[in-house]
Amino acid sequence: MCALPPGSTIGILGGGQLGRMLAVAAAQLGYSVHIYCPEKNNPAEQVSNSATHATYEDLEALAAFAQAVDVVTYEFENIPVETVNDIANTTPVFPNSEVLKISQDRLSEKTFINDLGIDTAPFKAVSSAQEAIEALRDIGYPAVLKTRRFGYDGKGQVIVKSEDEIVAAWDGLNSDKIIIEGFIEFDLEISVVAVRSQDGEVKCFAPVENEHKNHILDLSIAPARIGADLREEAVAKATRIIENIDYVGVLTVEFFVSSKEPKLRVNEIAPRVHNSGHWTIEACPSSQFEQHIRAICGLPLGDCSFTGEARMTNLIGEDIFELPDLLAEPGANVHHYGKSDVKPGRKMGHVTRLNPEPS
Ligand code: AMP
Repeated sequence: MCALPPGSTIGILGGGQLGRMLAVAAAQLGYSVHIYCPEKNNPAEQVSNSATHATYEDLEALAAFAQAVDVVTYEFENIPVETVNDIANTTPVFPNSEVLKISQDRLSEKTFINDLGIDTAPFKAVSSAQEAIEALRDIGYPAVLKTRRFGYDGKGQVIVKSEDEIVAAWDGLNSDKIIIEGFIEFDLEISVVAVRSQDGEVKCFAPVENEHKNHILDLSIAPARIGADLREEAVAKATRIIENIDYVGVLTVEFFVSSKEPKLRVNEIAPRVHNSGHWTIEACPSSQFEQHIRAICGLPLGDCSFTGEARMTNLIGEDIFELPDLLAEPGANVHHYGKSDVKPGRKMGHVTRLNPEPS
């Protein structure tokens, strides 16, 4: 393992709040950050040393960016694979483009997970409403139709309860690359944030419980309120996933937890730091952001341990107007992402409380 010396420059593809928190962690370890993203005045650039504004297809701008930095990472998974491959010709990129390819398509993602002997919802890829009707005779109702690519926060998916609803659901999705998943009656959703270093060491934060509102993460509770056996199983499965793809950096695995077997099913993986890991900033000696920077820079991993409980609440849209009250609240760790336009459903910030009163 060859560690990048302090003063080196980390290039980050993407300029959102995840890039912003990565840049802060990079600065803490003595690195400079160069953001590459199309949008001007983005949250990450506000706390970084330099920025390039260009599309992810602009080969000239990408080549100049690759020359200007010592290592490259990304903060969202819809970066074109070709972009990452282009950069990788001159500058190391972590995580590699293989995992990006797997996670960009729900079909390859679920196939990869099942091939590791890990359960997901039953699924079938289909390309017409008629194929969907036939597939649903096996999978059964209710089921979820999802676009294979570019879905997030519940966008690009619809639940169908009977054959009568399929044609309307199909037309609404506006794509002919659809995956059908059996609907899982889960008790709760959890995630495991895992990290792998360049020399293959793997560490995981404690599994965290996630509650959504309108398909957007609202609250994360760490540790997840599940038994020690399930926590260990979730960590073991996340470890198996991260060890099987020559991965460097943070990877997040989301699971459904049911009382019926199989108790754990992977919903999806994200090849990046994750909203459900924000609590680690205050609760752990090394946050998910610091762990990612350590991994991609060839440093030894930090400490993922924590004691007590942490609750992270997202500030979505107008929630950000609660800022004065939150700033006055003892023990509330407030994060503002520096976004000037408040829009419904937009992640504007978050607040983490350690050892809160039990609810
Ligand atoms: P996704 O975009 O796949 O992460 O889905 C967003 C949310 O929709 C998940 O966090 C679940 O709450 C719900 N969901 C997705 N797929 C299923 C499924 N197969 N069964 C039940 N709920 C699901």
